[in-house]
Amino acid sequence: STSVDYQKILNQINQEFIDQPRSGKVASYIPELAKVPSSKYGMHLYDLDGNNYCFGDSKERFSIQSISKVFTLSLAMKVMGDKLWNRVGVEPSGDPFNSLSQLENDSGIPRNPFINAGALVVADVLVSSFSNPKAALLTFLHEITGNQEIAFDPVVAASEQSKGYRNYAIVNYLKSFGNIENDVEDVLDFYFHQCSISMSCKELANAFIIFANNGTTIESEREFLTGRQVKRVNALMQTCGFYDEAGEFSFEVGLPGKSGVGGGIVAVHPDRFAVAVWSPPLNPKGNSALGMASLERLTTLTGFSIF
Ligand code: GLN
Repeated sequence: STSVDYQKILNQINQEFIDQPRSGKVASYIPELAKVPSSKYGMHLYDLDGNNYCFGDSKERFSIQSISKVFTLSLAMKVMGDKLWNRVGVEPSGDPFNSLSQLENDSGIPRNPFINAGALVVADVLVSSFSNPKAALLTFLHEITGNQEIAFDPVVAASEQSKGYRNYAIVNYLKSFGNIENDVEDVLDFYFHQCSISMSCKELANAFIIFANNGTTIESEREFLTGRQVKRVNALMQTCGFYDEAGEFSFEVGLPGKSGVGGGIVAVHPDRFAVAVWSPPLNPKGNSALGMASLERLTTLTGFSIF
């Protein structure tokens, strides 16, 4: 269905960047993440015909961090429907991912589900909805990927918890407005675990193909989200997936996507492909510097952005 040679383009991107000095800094506020070598670099593209294209460290697992917010949002939309939007907004915040600053004026309703405050409300929804929310999240991931090996990294979860002062502050602040139903410890335990999930670029591209395919997996052809729900998740990735750099990502790359402080970025071209890239050093907005540059080259070289 395409005349573009994805493997050739991925090889070209790898060649352009592999020997360049890395700009940015590996996240260190989560002590375990600081141990990851800054030289790691990989990319994987999975298209709607089921073809796989990749280079570099694309099969090595890393901490997906905020990329997990797309999975938890999807699950919360399934279990709560449109009532979810009474608890969390859908507007870009223009502020850093871990900001508390808009919560006071917005009476504890976070601007969107991808800043930490919004993701913590989504976590609270899942803690309320399932007797074992961690198992429910993994089951969802196992079902959309057909891969039973995807798991939490308890060392990373404990590491983040040990320094999680800001997320503790956010949950407590949200609870003071009545927008957290559960014990703050239970919400944070779930949140630190979702962020600790380890996946490779290959596994992420496989998981995100449902967002390129109207909510349906391409191998098992199971519908996990409706077309309407996928439209909404992709719209939120486009406008909020990169926090105060969402405009820049749209401008440079032109795809819905989501980043994490582990250095991963996943992006989706509806009706064409899902692509994941990993390079740990982050720019000042907390997004993988080389990941963004690589995706800019991908959409430029293929001509496939959504714009
Ligand atoms: N677990 C991280 C945090 O809450 C996730 C942040 C991110 O990946 N942007 O700080």
